[in-house]
Order: sequence, then C-alpha cells, then structure tokens
Amino acid sequence: MENVYNMTLKRLEECGEILGLQKSAIEYLKKPQRIIEVSIPVEMDDGSLKIFEGFRVQHNNARGPYKGGIRFHPNVGLEEVKALAMLMTWKCALLDIPCGGAKGGVRVDPKKLSEKELERLSRGYIRAIAPFIGPNIDIPAPDVNTNPKIMGWMFDEYCNIKGEILPSVITGKPPNLFGSEVREIATSLGGKYVLDEIIALLNMKPPLTIAIQGFGKVGGGIFKLLLNDKKYKVVAISDSKGGVFSEDGINDERIFEHKKNTGSVVGFENTETITNKELLSLDVDILIPAALENQIREDNAEEVKAKVILELANGPTTPKADEILRNKEIVVVPDILANAGGVTVSYFEWVQNREGFFWEKHEIEEKLKQRITNALREVWEISKKMKLDLRTSAYVLALRRVVDAMRARGWI
Ligand code: GLU
Repeated sequence: MENVYNMTLKRLEECGEILGLQKSAIEYLKKPQRIIEVSIPVEMDDGSLKIFEGFRVQHNNARGPYKGGIRFHPNVGLEEVKALAMLMTWKCALLDIPCGGAKGGVRVDPKKLSEKELERLSRGYIRAIAPFIGPNIDIPAPDVNTNPKIMGWMFDEYCNIKGEILPSVITGKPPNLFGSEVREIATSLGGKYVLDEIIALLNMKPPLTIAIQGFGKVGGGIFKLLLNDKKYKVVAISDSKGGVFSEDGINDERIFEHKKNTGSVVGFENTETITNKELLSLDVDILIPAALENQIREDNAEEVKAKVILELANGPTTPKADEILRNKEIVVVPDILANAGGVTVSYFEWVQNREGFFWEKHEIEEKLKQRITNALREVWEISKKMKLDLRTSAYVLALRRVVDAMRARGWI
C-alpha cells in the first residue's frame, strides 16, 4: 500500500512544479514545523495503568495559528498524522481561513474503553500537548472517532491548566459549551453544498444515484441530508463490516437504529449485502468515500464506474489511482475542498468564541454555503484555465496562498 505521507509529498512536488515555485519553498513545506510525540498514562477501570501513544503535528502556520482535528484510532501513526497535518494547511488556505495546518492522534481503539477511561485519556492527551496549543497557537478539533463530548473534556482540562476560560482553544465543543450547533453536521453539510454545485457545473440531470463508503458521523450525516433531497437516490452504504445495496434506494432513516443495535448497516431490511470492494465499483453517478484514507488505489481504480467522486474522507484516493480516474474522465472533487465544511464551521466557532457573540444557525449555514461554493468555483475556474483536474487546481490555489504568506513573512 502507498504510504500516505509520500503521497502528499508527491502532490506537493507536482504542484510546486506547475507553479514554478522555488525549490527552497517546497523543501520547507515538505517537513512539518513541529512534531510532538507524547506518551499518555491512563488509569484503567481495573486499577491497572496503560500507556497510550499520541501525536500532534504542526505543519505550517504562515497564514495563522495551526488548526486541525484529533483522531482516536488503532492505526494512528506519525506518518499518517504528518500527512493529514499537511492536508489541513492546504484545506485552510483553500477556504481562505486564516489558519495553518495541524493534526493530532492517539493510537487507541476507543470502542474498547469505558466512558471514564476515554475521559481520562482525552484529558491526559491535552495535558501532554498543552504547552504547544492555545487560541493563537494551535486550535484542535474533532476528527475520526472524536466528538463534542471529548472536545468538552479537553476544553475543560485546558482551562484548568491555564486557570482561565479560553473557549477559542478548541472547536467542535458541545453546543451548550461555547460550541456550534452546526459543527457536528458541518463536514457533511459542506459536502452537500459542494455536491449540489458540482452537479450544476457538470450539468448532470437528477435523479442521481449515490454510493456512500463509511457510515460514521460524516457518511451518516450526508446520508441524512441526501434523504431529504429528491435529486439524489442513495443505493448503497457500507461500514467497516460490509455494505448494503438496494436498487430502489435506501430511503429509510431506520438504518441508523439498525446500525446502533447491530453494530453495522449489514442486514438492514430490503437490502442486499455487498462488500466494500463491490460498493466502490458500483455503476452509480456519484461515489462518496467517507471513511479513511487509501481506499481507491491502483488495484481497484480501474473498476470505478461512478462519474463523480466526492471525497468526504481525508486522502481516500492515491496518486496512482488519480491518474487512472483522470484517464477514465471521472471527476474527483478533492478532500481538501469536499470535506472542508468541518474546519470552516470550526473557524466560525473560533471567531464567535473570540467575540463572545453567537450567530444564528441559518447565518452559519449561509456563510458556510457561500464560502465553500466560492472555493469550488475558484477551483473550477483554475481547472478550466490551466486544463488541470480539480485536485491539482485546488492544490495550486492553496499552495500559492501559503507560499505568498511565507514570502510576505520573509521566510523564503
Ligand atoms: N478534522 C476535520 C478535518 O479534517 C476538521 C478540523 C477542524 O475542525 O479544525 O478537516
């Protein structure tokens, strides 16, 4: 399997060349500015002590304080976190958010922890990285397997350390604790706005069939939004245990309950069971990878039949797969654009926290829609003008903004 960090480096180099950037700028951007590796002792419920491994990678802060989520997953490793931190730098720049890029992670399967153990781990992680974060330094947020409740504990721990209330140190907090009502659905909502716009730009005629890989907060979130929109028909969904398919559409919200009760979407009534591999090769209009990285690869990209891929996961497509998809004329809406709704609403939350004044829900949604569809249009223009695919165009725009800031600071 391709190493996700090498993949991000490759894309950086390619776009650097397209932009004709000086070598030193690319060399600088290849490495994160800071890597923090911590070990977190946690007292387990049975009285034993377990040590967890955690990371925070701060890639680049030329455009503002570092920003990015924290994931809890058994496969978390430094290379992956480094790659994801770099993606955050591009994502913030692309959406013109005045932040740089960072990412955090703890190697853990949170499903194996009790609630109290999870709380102790979350607080322990923040204690370990507290000297390196802050409202003007680095602002963490949720990512895979982390949520508002965890952000609430982390925020509380940070305030205890500092002896003051600093709501803007973390985003994605619970709505009743300086958080934003829209944040939990924000990644999916941003993805939906992008989807509506791209089908208009491509002149695709509804109803359009959709397959979604992943049924966590992002995959589940977009499913819910698509259910209420007649333009789309979701025919397949999968999670880590397998997938389901229905030609007539999975038009039923009870699938959430089924997943909650059984641990998977598999076995949901009136559906056929399919594998994750089969889901990726379905003859649908739109494929939405909403799980983890490295899903569409050299070995399966040829099988993809969708016309559009909307990347709600971070890094789901490898560069080699990109090449294959490009030859097949499949339009890939890249992660740094398609899933940027999360960090955009995080940014709004940070602004509101700093002002101590909260916006109405509809204002947040409107501002998100405007910002993310504008970004898509800018990327679309570049792709037409420079005859590039959407990912390369998005990188070109983001990279140019980051390098401009680095130059203005006198770094390069
Ligand atoms: N984890 C999300 C992402 O990958 C959001 C980060 C944030 O809200 O800062 O974009």
